Amino acid sequence: MTRIACSIPLDAPRRHVGHLAVPFSDDAHAYGVIPVPIAVLGGGDGPTVLLAAGVHGDEYEGQIVLRRLLHTLDPTRLAGRLIVLPALNLPAVRAARRTSPIDGANMNRAFPGDPDSGPTTQLAHYVETLLLPRCQAALDLHFGGTASEYLPCSYVYAGGPIAAAKAAMADAFAAPISIVVGATAETRSLSAACERQGVPMIATELGGGFVSHASMAVADAGTSAALRHLGLLPAPMDAFEILGAMIPEVLALKLLADLDYSLIPNAQALEPAQRQAKLVAIWTTQEMIICNAAKLAEQEIPLPTSLAKLADPRLRGRVMIPDITSGGGLEAVGAFALTAGGSETNIDPGLQLIHRIPDLRLWKADGEAVTAFKSGDIWVAEAHAGWAVRTEYAGVKVVSVPVKIGAHIGLIKEGWMGIGRASR
Ligand SMILES: [Zn+2]
Repeated sequence: MTRIACSIPLDAPRRHVGHLAVPFSDDAHAYGVIPVPIAVLGGGDGPTVLLAAGVHGDEYEGQIVLRRLLHTLDPTRLAGRLIVLPALNLPAVRAARRTSPIDGANMNRAFPGDPDSGPTTQLAHYVETLLLPRCQAALDLHFGGTASEYLPCSYVYAGGPIAAAKAAMADAFAAPISIVVGATAETRSLSAACERQGVPMIATELGGGFVSHASMAVADAGTSAALRHLGLLPAPMDAFEILGAMIPEVLALKLLADLDYSLIPNAQALEPAQRQAKLVAIWTTQEMIICNAAKLAEQEIPLPTSLAKLADPRLRGRVMIPDITSGGGLEAVGAFALTAGGSETNIDPGLQLIHRIPDLRLWKADGEAVTAFKSGDIWVAEAHAGWAVRTEYAGVKVVSVPVKIGAHIGLIKEGWMGIGRASR
């Protein structure tokens, strides 16, 4: 039976911040308690997850990340409940030490704990017998502290009935390195306590030596990603519109869920290649060379049929193409590369061709090319067919010329849609 009292309700909705009162009496404090901070964020139905930091007092990044999470996370956004222990071995935290100066104990060697022993051991007993049985997952944020420096990693114990759940959490946390360690003989860690209680958990070792912003960023992003994976937090966006050029990155980031095509009745009208496991085609457009034909005729310049013709010195200052950060930017760079004898993996010739266009102007935002045509500054632009139509609406007569790349005519830009993992 624990002697520790918790000052907040663990099952209540919304945000509650309080402490675990660990009884401790010394020469100065006859009836003293150690107030170990604890917080609960209760949202809608869903799993309960334990988040711990400060198991070792001199590992600060996780303490900072969890305190920030407590202040910024709106519990009404949660599908589930968080029990947060941001400074679990408080005496060690206050002393900036790995172990507690009160009883000399290493919290991560104190499990399963003892309700009748020193403060660190009492706390371990409370966590193992009263908190973990409420939880469906746990995350313990460690860093190197003053003693060590780690390559940033998350790790899980191998084997057991919850091995797959642990591996999936580590995958979602997405630390630069994920390590599966063999079943350990160490039975006194929080990891071992979670194994005993059947709670899938991952621990991290992220950097060390001093408070590192890079380590903190990994902990911050990883904690949110793990909570999304566990279903507590919604996906940052439900649906993603993705340009074709971005597909490899988006798939590598594992942002997307498998699509349920039974919910997309008209998907059968698409080509098989447009119906992928995680992405469905939603639009296709043709990138064009759009020309103010009257201005070109005045200067006796023929309509450019290839991107290479944009380097014509008579077009100095009159050419506009998409900036690399704009919607059509990557496709345009690819097209310039192919035009100049390069490829999608060798874009240097394309960049050289772009540099040969005298006084080139770049459009970034929607409508910039239309405005530039209307002002008369720009006579030729690489943009998609829709901008040609809108330029006409704006009162400028333009001619659209399909882009010629080698023996091929046409430059297609594709739009795709995916549904975010943990989307509701
Ligand atoms: Zn540690």
